[in-house]
Amino acid sequence: MTNLLLRKVGKSFGAFEALKGLDLEVVSGELVALLGPSGCGKTTTLRLISGLEMPTEGQVLFDSRDMSGVEVQQRNVGMVFQRYVLFPHMSVERNVSFGLRVRGTPRDEIEQRVSEILKVVQLEEFRFRFPSQLSGGQMQRVAIARTLITNPSVLMMDEPLANLDTKLRGEMRTFIRSLQRRLKITTVFVTHDQVEAMELADRVAVMFSGRIAQYAAPQTIYHRPASVEVARFIGAPNLMEAKVVRNGGATAISTGFGTLEVGDVHDHADGASVTAMIRPEAVIVGPDEGAEAANVRRGRIAKVDFFGQAITYEIEIDGAILRADEMSNRQLKVDDPVQVRLERERIWVFPGGGHHGMQA
Ligand code: ATP
Repeated sequence: MTNLLLRKVGKSFGAFEALKGLDLEVVSGELVALLGPSGCGKTTTLRLISGLEMPTEGQVLFDSRDMSGVEVQQRNVGMVFQRYVLFPHMSVERNVSFGLRVRGTPRDEIEQRVSEILKVVQLEEFRFRFPSQLSGGQMQRVAIARTLITNPSVLMMDEPLANLDTKLRGEMRTFIRSLQRRLKITTVFVTHDQVEAMELADRVAVMFSGRIAQYAAPQTIYHRPASVEVARFIGAPNLMEAKVVRNGGATAISTGFGTLEVGDVHDHADGASVTAMIRPEAVIVGPDEGAEAANVRRGRIAKVDFFGQAITYEIEIDGAILRADEMSNRQLKVDDPVQVRLERERIWVFPGGGHHGMQA
């Protein structure tokens, strides 16, 4: 399997810099998600890897080999797109074997590979059906099979699930994840859906405006976003402007919710402006017992949103709003008095502060 390396890659279209000094390593067998808003350069990155575009600066390397001058056909990159264009007049079997037939692969070998690959994508019983007789998820599995049958050394997937409905997307994610684990094929997966990126990927590269803002395991991106921008993009509602205050032994920050003890403020000096984040599931809601312990605040329920399994509350504390998520084993009501506990180890302090649009 192939190790993929992008070294200081830049790509300009005329005066427009679509990618700026991109460094990205995808180790052999890894699944990496490129996550970012529309226009941040995800597709351009895939096109550079596959050889459909050439970088303006920097290098794309496969197993330490510089790919400049190596044509698309020679790179052995498999591609799966959002729009899986299958041949409507060909059966599943013929669609899947297409790549081998144009290469002139012997008939026996084609027969064997098709059987193997249809088993892998769990489409054996659909072998003689036509695309119009398949569901969206089945068609996408045909498209994946058609790519895998050529034994690509790296796999590029560009929003392959975007056209599917929510339930099917979930099923296909599980399918792609287990397939990729089994085949151990180096994969780059483009998405603008953070849940998809976190569920699928070994590592996630969060991109904005042609740069990688953070490249880390999903757990790190989720719990330890590198910047306010990353936190916002992955949907962190509880961001607070804060200042570092070290009063005696405990490390603390002053926020719109008063002084909070925190686990770590990193290397920020006393008085430094920072931004703090706490995940809604780490805001523990209990009945108001008038407690005044460290990191416990009294407030009232301002808004309730019921989602079936989960429930979210907006809690007003001294005029500021904090969101808490929990499983819907109970339902509190608007105006119920509550107290919340913010677990000190789960408050994450970012470098930098003074950002606009904070809730507290
Ligand atoms: P989306 O999620 O909408 O597909 P993306 O992150 O994949 O977005 P890209 O398609 O990589 O974004 O495009 C990055 C930027 O480069 C965009 O601003 C786009 O308009 C620009 N761009 C891409 N290809 C070209 C081109 N051939 N000529 C000029 N500009 C281009």
